[in-house]
Amino acid sequence: MANVRIDEALCTGCGLCTANCPDAFEMNSNNKAVVKNAESGSCDMNQAAGECPVEAIIVS
Ligand code: SF4
Repeated sequence: MANVRIDEALCTGCGLCTANCPDAFEMNSNNKAVVKNAESGSCDMNQAAGECPVEAIIVS
């Protein structure tokens, strides 16, 4: 089971992860991405992590 978290200090709020994986990520009131459902199944978490321009998505 994937353990996914967002490093808020790194996240620029670009919206890429939420646009690509709306089931898995959402933006909070600070315009930072948060994990909504890492097990949504509709998105590859490793791919999402690789696409984040600032490597703020951490999969372990
Ligand atoms: S892709 Fe990365 S920088 Fe952009 S909103 Fe998601 S976590 Fe933040």
